[in-house]
Amino acid sequence: MITVRTKGDLRGVLRDRRGGTVGLVPTMGALHEGHLSLLRRAREECDTVVVSVFVNPAQFRPGEDLSTYPRDEERDTRLAEDEGADVLYAPTAEEVYPPGFATMVEVGGLTEVLEGDPAHRGPEHFRGVTTVVAKLLITVGPDVAYFGQKDAQQALVVERLVRDLDIPVRIATLPTVRDPDGLALSSRNAHLAPQDRERALALRRALAAGEQAVAEGELTAPQVLSRAASVLHSAGVEPEYLELRSARDLAPADRVNGATLLAVAARVGRTRLIDNTVLRAPEPTDRPAPAAAREEHAR
Ligand code: AMP
Repeated sequence: MITVRTKGDLRGVLRDRRGGTVGLVPTMGALHEGHLSLLRRAREECDTVVVSVFVNPAQFRPGEDLSTYPRDEERDTRLAEDEGADVLYAPTAEEVYPPGFATMVEVGGLTEVLEGDPAHRGPEHFRGVTTVVAKLLITVGPDVAYFGQKDAQQALVVERLVRDLDIPVRIATLPTVRDPDGLALSSRNAHLAPQDRERALALRRALAAGEQAVAEGELTAPQVLSRAASVLHSAGVEPEYLELRSARDLAPADRVNGATLLAVAARVGRTRLIDNTVLRAPEPTDRPAPAAAREEHAR
């Protein structure tokens, strides 16, 4: 694996490869099994695998955790190499945003709710994400770019970005990887004190309570949300948001109907965590059997 720090070197390395497909895994580093699952899939599917590690200042608001975001490039290098990545792109902020930088890429609509609600991270967060992702896609020109369902809204926003700007790349969104106790892996989990880590499990449990409500036929938003909210409440976790939305376009959902996203964000101690699950109404089991089967049964 080769580490490069400039767009020029990255382009050079990719130009020198002997053809084939390219997979890109964009990350902010502090790699964990969630990131590695993306890298593994990229390794299976593509001839050349590029992983980027860049803690993108443009997606942090003033006062957010940019300065304390976990960074460990040596460890990231080892882990990416062990997964068979070919290129690690670790630019400086000046390389990505040189003096005079003045162009931001903004996806409308989808970025104004959930994480993008001004009461939470705000649309500027996604403006930072889509700007850096667009730059990476332009520089690397991958066939496939890999994202995690853990950041479901981000994956939808990136899909819209590439569709609207005619960027010829497939966006692959892979399942959330969790610790055995259910906590969604996140680089920010490193900041959880032991008692907070225990409380953080309430996020996954709340989502599971929503899943259970649906399994029991409670499909309306008030039913699903109150079951999930009561789990958070019992754990003393106050959600920033707990919402039911279409998993396709994030439109508010008044009931589980088709793929429906139950999304939660909450601060546990000083650490802000997000998680989600996709709910689907159960198939009705009491449908009349097909005519042929009924006849068979009658005989
Ligand atoms: P980050 O480094 O947090 O910006 O994440 C880089 C990529 O890894 C994003 O596409 C995330 O959605 C994805 N990712 C982060 N955590 C997980 C996880 N627990 N499971 C699967 N993918 C993840």
